[in-house]
Amino acid sequence: MNEKCRRCGSHKIIPLVPVQDTGQYASGRLQAHVGFTNPEAWFFKGAVSARLSATICGECGHTELTAENPGELYEAYMRARAHGS
Ligand SMILES: [Zn+2]
Repeated sequence: MNEKCRRCGSHKIIPLVPVQDTGQYASGRLQAHVGFTNPEAWFFKGAVSARLSATICGECGHTELTAENPGELYEAYMRARAHGS
């Protein structure tokens, strides 16, 4: 593992930490919903949620989020654009 922090250059990197959403109605993972601009509408078929993981710098705290399923997300995005939503 030779990742380093983009902000401070430290090698104290904590990779791919699952991001938790502990809100009352949360499924447990922080999610980004792709495919609909209306957040009420994402339950309709075709919407896909990003499963996010964080890479955290143990020196300065800089955090980057990475989606585990980018191909699936891009397909959902393109589908939604094609349907004009
Ligand atoms: Zn850093």
